[in-house]
Amino acid sequence: MTSSNSLTDKKLLYLLGGLTLGLGALFAINKASKKDKKPKRTTENLIGIEMGGTGSKISIINRRWNATSNKYDYQVMSRFGVDSTTPEETVSRLLEFIRGQEFTQIGIASFGPVCLNPKDPYFGCITTTPKLQWQNYPLLATVKQKSGCENVFMDTDVNAAALAEFELGNHNVNSLIYVTVGTGVGVGVVVDGKPVHGLTHPEGGHISVALDSSDHEYEGVCPYHKNCLEGLVTNNSIAKRLGLSTVHDLPTVDKDHKVWEICANYLAQLCLNITLLVSPEVIILGGGIMNQPTMLSLIHKNFTKLLNNYVDHPKLKEVHTYIKLPTLGMDAGVLGGAVLCKHN
Ligand SMILES: [Zn+2]
Repeated sequence: MTSSNSLTDKKLLYLLGGLTLGLGALFAINKASKKDKKPKRTTENLIGIEMGGTGSKISIINRRWNATSNKYDYQVMSRFGVDSTTPEETVSRLLEFIRGQEFTQIGIASFGPVCLNPKDPYFGCITTTPKLQWQNYPLLATVKQKSGCENVFMDTDVNAAALAEFELGNHNVNSLIYVTVGTGVGVGVVVDGKPVHGLTHPEGGHISVALDSSDHEYEGVCPYHKNCLEGLVTNNSIAKRLGLSTVHDLPTVDKDHKVWEICANYLAQLCLNITLLVSPEVIILGGGIMNQPTMLSLIHKNFTKLLNNYVDHPKLKEVHTYIKLPTLGMDAGVLGGAVLCKHN
């Protein structure tokens, strides 16, 4: 009885094993066929727009399916830029550049805050910006109307930059955070290939940070919170802290000045909070302040100290592969716009 039972058990095990392998193979084939599926449209021209607080850009970008890599390649065909003056003038001048051109979709990466809830009457508008002429400006609707193109998509500049790094930056990850540190601090979150939107869009630049021990005298410049992260590390904030008359003098500040260590401490706190809250696979730090030559290594040093081995993952020990500079150069903004366009 015993040997007969064990024979039956063995047969059952083989059967179950075979079934599992079979189902596994079926799922694998299904997954592969989905991934390898050639898109209906293999090449098209897209318009990428980057709306900035001081300057805006527009580009014609060719998107072509690459059967070898199973991904789209993006190539910037032409570029045009204007100063951001009044919204009407800025948008008109940008769209003049693409008049008569052939394209299928437009993607707009805009400075914010912007309303991205399609059910909200202000959907596609720039909302509470300190640039008064741009407050509640219906950017999406105006671009649709003036261009005659129905397929217009929009997101924040930082979400679009995060998506561009995710799609084009060869990071080979499923989750990515993009932080920009310049005239403001923006945080874009991409999970499973999609920018994260909630009630609005993440505003990680305005988190509270623990004040650096040598920075208690400085009150910060954020009009809403004074010494939130953005109030402490933007170029305006650093210039004010050092008594400089303009942000253009920042490159003259010595690379060993204490202020860079202070800012690196605050930015490392941002990276720590991001890691603890979202656990992304990579954090990209961009924007003018990251051009300071010692900034990235100072952030690495502070981040490792603050994390204090609490989260145990090999990637966090190789911190230079976890917190990195952007890979896309001068076209990052318009490419950010283009990657918002739909895949057909
Ligand atoms: Zn703030």
